[in-house]
Amino acid sequence: MKKTVIITLFILILSLMSCSDKRYSSQYWGLFDTVVDVEGYFETEEEFKRADALIHSTLSYYHNLFDIYNDAEFANLKTVNESGGKTLEVSPDLFEFLEYIKEAERMTGGACNPALGAVSSLWKEAIENRTLPNEAFLEEASRHCDINTVVLDKKNLTVTLTDPEVRLDVGAIGKGYAAKKLAEVLRENGFDNVLVNIGGNVTAIGEKKDGESWAVGIKSPTKDENAAVVEISNTNLVTSGGYERGAQIEGAYYHHIINPETLSPAAGHLSVSVMCEDGALADVLSTALFIVSLEEGQEMIKNFDGVEVLWIEPSGEKISTPGLPQEK
Ligand code: ADP
Ligand code: MG
Repeated sequence: MKKTVIITLFILILSLMSCSDKRYSSQYWGLFDTVVDVEGYFETEEEFKRADALIHSTLSYYHNLFDIYNDAEFANLKTVNESGGKTLEVSPDLFEFLEYIKEAERMTGGACNPALGAVSSLWKEAIENRTLPNEAFLEEASRHCDINTVVLDKKNLTVTLTDPEVRLDVGAIGKGYAAKKLAEVLRENGFDNVLVNIGGNVTAIGEKKDGESWAVGIKSPTKDENAAVVEISNTNLVTSGGYERGAQIEGAYYHHIINPETLSPAAGHLSVSVMCEDGALADVLSTALFIVSLEEGQEMIKNFDGVEVLWIEPSGEKISTPGLPQEK
């Protein structure tokens, strides 16, 4: 009898403790050219402030490291892009990332090619100016998109662009890679009830509260509503879609995710969402699967464990692997 009372008391205290966790949230603008939303459950406001500062400083660091437009206090991707073929020494963090982007290109059979910058920048300009890119310029740019010309030396931590006209564009990978690193940092610091959404790249660090998952919506590419709602904890949910960044030019719609084979915006799907534990992989695969056909994509994901995918097709049809719902 006494034992039961003690156990009951213990459970009561535990549940009171978890009930004392309050929800906090914050939002940052300007990182990775998008908006970042943070929410989490913390015992005290001080705890939340500590986590919030850590999240902001970690994401700012990766934002600066991957910036191709602005200089940083250290060699970043702008420095690499402007190295003019000279060998450049980089930090261990940047070196590891450069290794990863080469790996990303390899594991997606070239569909996700972070060396596509010469071509993708022409499309970005085209979308901004609402004029189609010049075919001859696209053709010329496509000659400078070979990731194998990004040569790494692990011993000396250097990178050499053996084709100085190659331009890295890590729009397809940077957010997911930063999210993966952030999840590691947060776990190391004992935070494990946090949800971070970097412009649609959603990372759940732990559960929402004890035993509860976060409900995350996958937007419909055509209507202002969710196409599906997914329960997540300790994983990532990343969507690539043409519908968010694009423009109507000469009567047709063009967007920012480019098929390296056709040198034009990928046309096979309206959106592709990927759920998996590795945040960087989720980002890489969502872009790659958006580019390749459904059949090629289904083959590609056989190479990875624990990857779940939802394809939304131009017909409106939803196709998914067993771990992702098709409902709201
Ligand atoms: P978002 O950035 O909207 O989350 P993605 O992760 O799919 O979407 O990345 C798209 C971005 O990646 C583009 O804006 C561009 O900078 C870059 N990009 C476009 N096409 C490719 C490609 N085939 N391979 C690698 N990066 C690409
Ligand atoms: Mg991506």
